[in-house]
Amino acid sequence: MIENTTKNNIGMAFNCPEHRKCGGCQLQNMNYQQQLKWKEVLVERLLIKYCRIKPIIGMENPQHYRNKVQAAFGMDTRKKIVSGVYQSSSHKIVPIDNCMIEDEKADEIIVTIRNMLPKFKLLPYDERRGTGFLRHVLIKRGFTTNEIMVVLVTPTPIFPSKNNFVGELRKKHPEITTILQSVNPYETSLVLGDRENVLFGRGFIEDELCGCTFRISAKSFYQINPVQTEKLYSKAIELADLKPTDRVIDAYCGIGTIGLIASKHCKEVFGVELNANAVRDAISNCKRNEITNARFFKGDAGNFMTDMAEEGETADVVIMDPPRAGSDEKFMSAIITLSPPKVVYISCSPETLARDLTYMTQNGYKVREIQPVDMFPYTHHVETVVLMTKA
Ligand code: SAH
Repeated sequence: MIENTTKNNIGMAFNCPEHRKCGGCQLQNMNYQQQLKWKEVLVERLLIKYCRIKPIIGMENPQHYRNKVQAAFGMDTRKKIVSGVYQSSSHKIVPIDNCMIEDEKADEIIVTIRNMLPKFKLLPYDERRGTGFLRHVLIKRGFTTNEIMVVLVTPTPIFPSKNNFVGELRKKHPEITTILQSVNPYETSLVLGDRENVLFGRGFIEDELCGCTFRISAKSFYQINPVQTEKLYSKAIELADLKPTDRVIDAYCGIGTIGLIASKHCKEVFGVELNANAVRDAISNCKRNEITNARFFKGDAGNFMTDMAEEGETADVVIMDPPRAGSDEKFMSAIITLSPPKVVYISCSPETLARDLTYMTQNGYKVREIQPVDMFPYTHHVETVVLMTKA
């Protein structure tokens, strides 16, 4: 499906025939060096006024890095079963068999499942009629452990010839370590439903990052490019320059990844996160790694910081990793009151980062280092780590 690219041409521009409809790889027509330059120029334009920008940390092999892949299933006009991504702002499926940025094994398993459906007399789900069986397939692969999770998303719990289907899939792909069924009867843009049945294996996979083991369930948030995540987190920890006496806040902590890695270098960690499932995963990851100096709280990071400030608590380092919208006023003003000597800001949006850095520099902080990291080659997304200290 991909033209102009072979395995020997790592990092060259590609010309994906589905580019226009899929809309995923905005920078596909640039080679990797050009993409890195493009991202550096973007970060420089927005952030140079605060500090010199370090050269972006890129990937050695920037293709097939996505270790979480999901495909929607449907029928084309010729009644052929197709799998792929939804065309932007529509519910038409763009058929994709192999994608330059997705894990190759995951793509292979999706095609296998599609080819198995007719033999088992299973149909893809028809949204308009509400009939059929398979809505989506979600695959996650552990980068260091190589464990593979397959999730079959169906509208009802009924799964005709379930055992035979699972048996055949495992025979064709013995590398799969767990298979789940997620039941999603709703007309929603969310892929996974509330109910899960484990059909084979443990129902989750594990992966390792920076010396910690993380449990990844079907629903848990996990960075999709582990190679670069390791570089990003290592850089954040390096900038935080933690001391054994430090009290650290991991704000917007997700499943606790950064906080748990940081806990090995400091006295104690408080993680705060809005999503209840993620907090649950953070607590179980803490136990799994036998870490005793980290605690995780469910709540709004701004409220948490405000409460800490009001109670006269202190922190030596705040590591913050907010979503694309950046931090809100409550959080920003609480950080100024709390007044930690060091703030490490991890951002997935240079625009909102620029806004938040303006606030921080107007309120007593100085930007010491800006390090862009390329987490999503071939797309226009840029991740940036920033160190600030009290001016
Ligand atoms: N640091 C984590 C996750 C970063 S993604 C990692 O590297 O894996 C941003 C996280 O912020 C998400 O998990 C989201 O649920 C959480 N979040 C969004 N708004 C929040 C808020 N107001 N307070 C606390 N957490 C929030």
